[in-house]
Amino acid sequence: MSSLDDVLKHRLAALREQNLFRELRRVDSAPGPRLQMNGRSLLNFASNDYLGLASHPALKAAAIAAVSEFGAGSGASRLISGSLAPFHQLEEALAAFKGTAAALTFATGSAAALGTLTALAGKDDILILDKLVHACIVDAARLSGAKLRIFAHNDLDDLEAKLKWADSAATLENGRRKSEILVVTESIFSMDGDAAPLRAMVALKERYGARLMVDEAHATGIVGRNGRGLADHLGVSDRIEIQMGTLGKALGASGGYICGSRPLIDLLVNRARSFIFSTAPVPAAAAAASAGIQLAQSSEGETLREQLRQRVAELVKSVIRDPSLTIAGAIVPVILGDETKTLSAAANLREQGIFAPAIRYPTVARSAARLRLTLTAAHTANDVAMLARALEAIINPTS
Ligand SMILES: *Cc1c(COP(=O)(O)O)cnc(C)c1O
Repeated sequence: MSSLDDVLKHRLAALREQNLFRELRRVDSAPGPRLQMNGRSLLNFASNDYLGLASHPALKAAAIAAVSEFGAGSGASRLISGSLAPFHQLEEALAAFKGTAAALTFATGSAAALGTLTALAGKDDILILDKLVHACIVDAARLSGAKLRIFAHNDLDDLEAKLKWADSAATLENGRRKSEILVVTESIFSMDGDAAPLRAMVALKERYGARLMVDEAHATGIVGRNGRGLADHLGVSDRIEIQMGTLGKALGASGGYICGSRPLIDLLVNRARSFIFSTAPVPAAAAAASAGIQLAQSSEGETLREQLRQRVAELVKSVIRDPSLTIAGAIVPVILGDETKTLSAAANLREQGIFAPAIRYPTVARSAARLRLTLTAAHTANDVAMLARALEAIINPTS
């Protein structure tokens, strides 16, 4: 009989053969536009720290102060040993930021998705997901046991077809619909950088008596007035029942959140298993996130967003050259298709001192491999020009 390691080596060899093998690359510096890797300094276009807050003095000071006052660890689940003040301050700040009645934070955005969908949906319910939603939403939807339908990415006709089907497939009790129908989308999509048509989606779900959950992981902090996200920007925030996001991207810390009504948050405290059966995050993370939310809404936050918009415009102008392409956030995908080609493009960039991740299956579909470039407010116009020059040789090798 072969050992477990032999079985695993065989599986790893299969991944290598398909150019789908992944490995960790050690970094010896703080998050920022430059990374120390293997003794070299690389320009970093791989981070979701869009405003450069992860290394901001205000966030570091908030984290240090929380460690001094509340300790390094949190000891237990918030329902067991009492709920530390920094989490309550953070949740009040989040609810005010998003304009909702209440908020609940989780250890990560993934844990927020997992806890929320499994708490809200069961076998009598129906979940309708955009084809490109994040893996944590797909996993949560499967675990919930609800009936699952996928609509083509940002396709309102297909969403309506799925809503019609859900209306007819919903379980009735005494002539009334017993099933909940929940549509789930991202606002700015993580691997394509495009935006969901939230206004039209809100109108559609209301027409069919469904609810809407929007994951603003890549919009919170950078899109709209004070960085409140795309839902707020489009004026539909109060018609979206469940607003989700992460504290680990533009807000510079770590953790996940759900914003919504008081009954929604009370239900999650009672039913979200990833919240209940998990030790609370460290108080330093909550304090840093609160500082991140405050900064995002300040005039400094507005300046950082303006810098970020400029960098995105420079990259789109020099590399993508597609005037129809509107990038609402900070993600610029360069889709090369072939996995091997994408891996060698990333290696080529690294040789030129640029770190940009080759995104492959299963993060994106097979043969939709891409360089996923993310810009931050901490990049300079020079950094972007250097990236554009290096990309030119990859995208247009003959010119
Ligand atoms: C990163 C991400 C998450 C998960 O958030 P974490 O805090 O990293 O667990 C969820 N949804 C989307 C769209 C993301 O990009």
